[in-house]
Amino acid sequence: MWPDRARVPPPFAMTNVEEKKQPQKRLEPRSAQFVRGIGPRRFEALNRIGVHTVKNLCYFFPRRYEDRTRFESVANLKPGMEVTLRGEILAQGVKPLKKFAIFEMVVGDSTGTIQAVWFNQPYLKNQFRVGDQVILSGKVECYHNQVQLNSPEYERIERAEDDPIHVGRIIPIYPLTEGLVQRSLRQAMKEVIDRHVPNEIEEFLPEEIRSRNSLLDLTTALRTMHFPEDWRSLEQAQKRIIFDEFFTFELMLLSKIRGIRSREKSMPFEKNSALLSNFRKALPFELTNDQEQAVKEITDSVSQTIPMNRLLQGEVGSGKTVVAAAMLYLAAQNRLQSALVAPTEILAEQHFGKLKPFFESLGVQTALLTGSVEENERSRVYEQAQAGAPTVFIGTHALLQEEVQFQRLGLVVIDEQHRFGVAQRAKLLLRRPRPHLLVMTATPIPRTLGLTLYGDLDMTILRQLPKGRKQIKTYWIDRDKEEDVLKHIRNSVAEKDEQAYILFPIIEETERSDLQAATQEFERLQKGIFRGIPLGLVHGRLAKKERDNVMTRFHSGEIKVLVATSVVEVGIDNPNVTYMVIENAERFGLSQLHQMRGRIGRGTKESMCFLFGNPTTEDGKKRLRILTKTNDGFTIAEEDLALRGPGDFFGTRQTGLPYFRVASLTRDVSLLLAARNEAAQFLERDPDFSQPEHNLLAAEIAQRCTQFTP
Ligand code: ADP
Ligand code: MG
Repeated sequence: MWPDRARVPPPFAMTNVEEKKQPQKRLEPRSAQFVRGIGPRRFEALNRIGVHTVKNLCYFFPRRYEDRTRFESVANLKPGMEVTLRGEILAQGVKPLKKFAIFEMVVGDSTGTIQAVWFNQPYLKNQFRVGDQVILSGKVECYHNQVQLNSPEYERIERAEDDPIHVGRIIPIYPLTEGLVQRSLRQAMKEVIDRHVPNEIEEFLPEEIRSRNSLLDLTTALRTMHFPEDWRSLEQAQKRIIFDEFFTFELMLLSKIRGIRSREKSMPFEKNSALLSNFRKALPFELTNDQEQAVKEITDSVSQTIPMNRLLQGEVGSGKTVVAAAMLYLAAQNRLQSALVAPTEILAEQHFGKLKPFFESLGVQTALLTGSVEENERSRVYEQAQAGAPTVFIGTHALLQEEVQFQRLGLVVIDEQHRFGVAQRAKLLLRRPRPHLLVMTATPIPRTLGLTLYGDLDMTILRQLPKGRKQIKTYWIDRDKEEDVLKHIRNSVAEKDEQAYILFPIIEETERSDLQAATQEFERLQKGIFRGIPLGLVHGRLAKKERDNVMTRFHSGEIKVLVATSVVEVGIDNPNVTYMVIENAERFGLSQLHQMRGRIGRGTKESMCFLFGNPTTEDGKKRLRILTKTNDGFTIAEEDLALRGPGDFFGTRQTGLPYFRVASLTRDVSLLLAARNEAAQFLERDPDFSQPEHNLLAAEIAQRCTQFTP
């Protein structure tokens, strides 16, 4: 967890808080080497997992806890039990064997006696004496018909009032790495908590915030995180630590938003609904109410000098593209350049294919830029960008590269935002003047993520689908029925004018074996069930010319069934397709499956989606079941977040989440809301952290923030 964290780029640059001077009376961070029990070797091991200072150690929390407070009577011990017992040493000694030595001890309580053994630790002999009181904790085994404890954790009780560390209480179990041993690390932690915390940890949370939210003071919380008295106080401690994570995060987020709002400037668009009248006339349909509302909200934002930073969320098929097109058109009407950025070449080309004739009929210039655009054409596009004439640039992230020097870039629209990392978005924001930014996603963002990861974005939501859409029916198909389904599809596309997708989604386009499987299956279908039906195959490795050819023939209806890997997942729009088969459906997350399914049901005909898959886990089964029950993207997003956790929610490229190490975005929603509230109020009172009593908080935030820097 720690090393990962170090590599994570900052979710955003700290502005207000970072620039503040550190308060003078700040304690120097003390090296973890000063802790008794941490020698050079252990220090090195700790360094490898990102622990350098005493404070780092304080925040190096147990991975779990074990309750060793209940002493079992020896008479009750049965093989297989995890027990803690307390007794007197009745005998002890080392038994030297040929290859190793065994240290043995016989311990008795008032109900009986038991033997405990340790292999290869003869030195233990000197740590115990007959007559000592000990607490042992471990698993009961059966050896030669006798119960015994094998290498239990131990602790000698010298005086009744001794505070035990390893047994006889709720015990912390730390995440280990090579060079760290549970027992010695725990010992060192006790040292940290007893001797260092009081001197080195300073309370940074204002008293009134603590009392309003019934939070423990920091010292108590940290002590309890490591050595809890009982489960209830552990909960209290966790609450404090989680609150801190949310509160500092929200302070960064909100103060960054304020910073942008007050400093950066974008070029404002003229707000005049007549500017869109030709656009509306050219559309083959009327905008839905939601689309109208979205156009209005976005127009309001871009007509200000404050840079727009807006997320347009909407179900697949809800018609986000036309909303984006309206804004791109509006930019041109304002004599500004604009860019529409798609995550894949296929999607960029598809947007271009549709939008170019549309915009040109309206007298607006367009240009395409992707990785496959040839050298000559590329330099022409670069020149166009530099010349500054109002043009709608459509392309992939090639458009975001520095070589493209836009003269008057007023608006950037990013399609299918979940495919872009936060880092890419951040890079874009470095352009000056800052273009207004609209990001679009079909993966609805659950509320907690909306308030954290995406908390710097305003939201516009399209809930309504364009009129006349039929619900997609989704079925989870048993393996022995798969063939029937394929035959049914074959007959439908042969007899009626219908089309189908068969998806062999591959997780990484680079996975050769997956690609092979898709290719083989394509051949098998072509020779088998679909013999005589025009089939096409597309995947990420296909040469552009070939791919274009297949796509054109599919769109024209010549190819009836398109076998594809995940390239279809993003945005392909062919309203004539009514069937979708997803093979290996169990390998995908809910949101991804929902995305894929969104490729059908785009016309007026009833559509069906068949999930082929045999999940082995309960979660896997649950995912497929949820899909057969609902088409609602927001429900699916919440379920997905709950099932997979936020780290996986958007795939591996998502960043920023490791900030939350104890907090959980699925479990701690109410604390998040409370913390956000407090953060907002705090910034009302002291937006620049200028009050001296807020120095420690500012320093704490600055420090937490630097832990993100790569
Ligand atoms: P998505 O939100 O998934 O990007 P698209 O923008 O691709 O959806 O739109 C899906 C389809 O719906 C397109 O064929 C588009 O032309 C059509 N569409 C969009 N808005 C409307 C509308 N108001 N009435 C009818 N059809 C619409
Ligand atoms: Mg789209």
